[in-house]
Amino acid sequence: MAKLEESPRSLPGERSMQGPRGGGTGPGLSPVGSRTLLICTFILAVAWGQMNFTGDQVLRVLAKDEKQLSLLRDLEGLKPQKVDFWRGPARPSLPVDMRVPFSELHDVKDYLKSHGLVYTVMIKDIQVLLDEERDTMARSRRLERSTSGFSYSSYHTLEEIYNWIDSFAAEHSDLVSKICIGNSFENRSILVLKFSTGGSNRRAVWIDTGIHSREWITHATGIWISNKIVSAYGKDHVLKKILNAMDIFIEIVTNPDGFAFTHSMNRLWRKNKSSRPGISCIGVDLNRNWKTGFGGNGSNKNPCSETYRGPAPQSEPEVSAIVEFITGHGNFKALVSIHSYSQMVMYPYGHSLKPVPNHEELFNLAKDTVKALHKVHGTEYTFGSISTTLYTASGITVDWAYDSGIKYAFSFELRDTGQYGFLLPASQIIPTAQETWMAIRTIMKHALRHPY
Ligand SMILES: [Zn+2]
Repeated sequence: MAKLEESPRSLPGERSMQGPRGGGTGPGLSPVGSRTLLICTFILAVAWGQMNFTGDQVLRVLAKDEKQLSLLRDLEGLKPQKVDFWRGPARPSLPVDMRVPFSELHDVKDYLKSHGLVYTVMIKDIQVLLDEERDTMARSRRLERSTSGFSYSSYHTLEEIYNWIDSFAAEHSDLVSKICIGNSFENRSILVLKFSTGGSNRRAVWIDTGIHSREWITHATGIWISNKIVSAYGKDHVLKKILNAMDIFIEIVTNPDGFAFTHSMNRLWRKNKSSRPGISCIGVDLNRNWKTGFGGNGSNKNPCSETYRGPAPQSEPEVSAIVEFITGHGNFKALVSIHSYSQMVMYPYGHSLKPVPNHEELFNLAKDTVKALHKVHGTEYTFGSISTTLYTASGITVDWAYDSGIKYAFSFELRDTGQYGFLLPASQIIPTAQETWMAIRTIMKHALRHPY
């Protein structure tokens, strides 16, 4: 067994956490004080109807080998839920980030220590970040109301985004239109923005953000980029050439039900909100529900898993709406599906280690994309095929896109690398969007110059 090491960033006093199961003390608090705090925050949370994450931590574990990875995998699926993987166990060279509920912290840390798994605390108390996020949003909302403006450097609710889509499309009707491509499980409209300078059924580029609802930076990036396309069209000659030959489609809220739920109830919700008779857990991982490789490695058949693939390929309305739209259109040449976090640009396959026929072209294009992104703010991204860069994942958007004839299919993982994870502060929205835009522009430019 590996030598037990104390995490360099762990909190003072953590080693002495020896309370009864589920009753470990939070930093600097007596057991009684911490329990009172928990009860108070619980009452507040119930009053607001929102899940509270006080004392929950995100731990980063560096597994040394396959055996340690499988020890980590064993943590998922236990009842009560012990961990929520933010970066799942993939390969020994990649860190594993997991949110551990306060009530399970003691057990989980014991488990890690007893198996010689070294961990650091990435986020000490998730609720602190959530409170900051909520306050920042409220402040920005007040300002927006008083100026009747829209802040591109803030996070927004579904209703705010849908209102923005309406006024944005109306204001720029010469270039932008709004299309409803279907309805979600809970019957919300699934909206796509189309950027077009005319023509009929031109070659097209697809961009989607927010298929995983907790990845808020992706929606915000989609909004900023939409506005950028409109404002840069007259000035950026490359964009002009792109838009004179191709149409761009952006689906900002790809998982509207999940996204609404991240605001109303659980900020850390990933899946959609579908439910089926006889199944107690809710939601399907929309990025495991696509036909290509459906049900293979890196997807889960357990409905309670965060990577539950669903009962059948395209069983979810949010996925089938895109499949029908893209297939019906028939002329999409590039697709970028945007996630967070980890700072990666990746291409197919996810479900197989087999290189795709134009692997070399995609490798070089990914390299150029990452270079263009880096130039903006110096942010470092890694790149490669999904299965070799991240992990095997089956039934994912880009594999389906590639096998449906879209040769330039990419998946992005935006900022950061784990300091904030899914809770990236709003102050990073604009820089993230700026660099992501240059990355997408590189892919669109390549698609423009390499017609097929
Ligand atoms: Zn994601």
